[in-house]
Amino acid sequence: MPTKTAEETRCASAVSLLETAKLDALLVTNLHNVRYLTGFTGSNGAVLLLKDKPAVLFTDPRYTVQSQQQVTCRVKIAKGPLNAAILQEIGRARLRRVGFEQDNLTVGQMSGLTKRKPAKVHMEPVTGLIENLRLVKDAGEIEKIRTSVLTNSNALDAALKQFKVGMKESELAAEIDYQNRKLGAEAPAFDTIVAAGERAALPHAQPGGTAIGPGILLIDMGAFQAGYASDMTRMVHVGTPTPKYKKAYRAVLEAQLAAIAAVKPGAKTNAVDRAARSTLKQHGLERQFIHSTGHGLGLEIHELPRLGRKDKTRLAEGMAITIEPGVYIEGWGGIRIEDTVLVTAKGCEILTPTSKMLRVI
Ligand code: ZN
Ligand code: ZN
Repeated sequence: MPTKTAEETRCASAVSLLETAKLDALLVTNLHNVRYLTGFTGSNGAVLLLKDKPAVLFTDPRYTVQSQQQVTCRVKIAKGPLNAAILQEIGRARLRRVGFEQDNLTVGQMSGLTKRKPAKVHMEPVTGLIENLRLVKDAGEIEKIRTSVLTNSNALDAALKQFKVGMKESELAAEIDYQNRKLGAEAPAFDTIVAAGERAALPHAQPGGTAIGPGILLIDMGAFQAGYASDMTRMVHVGTPTPKYKKAYRAVLEAQLAAIAAVKPGAKTNAVDRAARSTLKQHGLERQFIHSTGHGLGLEIHELPRLGRKDKTRLAEGMAITIEPGVYIEGWGGIRIEDTVLVTAKGCEILTPTSKMLRVI
């Protein structure tokens, strides 16, 4: 028998969850989940996971060739809306309880399905079923994240070589995106953040026309490569840093290292958050830390688990997360340090190779 592809193994794990949820089938409409289960990367697709039969991918004629190249499961090319083909399959397979992804179906799609479904079929809302499977990455996914992280770090080095004092934030952001793409990424994982001076006090600053002068420079960047995200924040100081900057930088770095030290299988995500928060408290900076410590990443830049104050997911080997405490002071600026980290059997591995020594250019 041929060995299973990673996607076939994932479908099998998902099907075993269907039994626990007492479902005959699950209609998967989140495109990241579609990709996860089948390898299909088109912009229009849905998967019907079936308890007793191979999964079916529905897409449209634009993707006839692409789906043949990417997918090993059954493929149905729908000439019209996917809904009609999906309902036909549901009817033919004599299903009773069909789950749907409640967070990924529009009201219009939903009413189209429920109005014309066979009378005996019950549509059951489901949340997070495939997302929970995606929490723990398989070996192939880990390799892709590793590659994406390396590309992203190389792109920062290459972009900083082009840096000149007086450059606009938007110019440096464009250079970062260009370098990432040149080094093998297919897209930025999110809008690159380049924030100079007191604008670094905005955790999600949009790079604009501000000239990068002497002072604080916060860069938060990520790439998608082979579909997988990387995420890194680094601080650069243009010219000699003030004692206040040095002190705050050391505090944030200490908090980031304390959080990383708390990452191990079995640890709750809020314990990792607490490690960062209590370290900042010792420096009198806990009130300036206004977001959570990190997030999972994979096919999406933000996925499970969350690492905030109230999140109690237990970490497990194979989870890929970010650790990114920061402090933000209005009128002064901000400091954030972020790595992508892999949970290993005994603790964790920091995937991001870029140095965290206080950097002055
Ligand atoms: Zn980031
Ligand atoms: Zn992040």
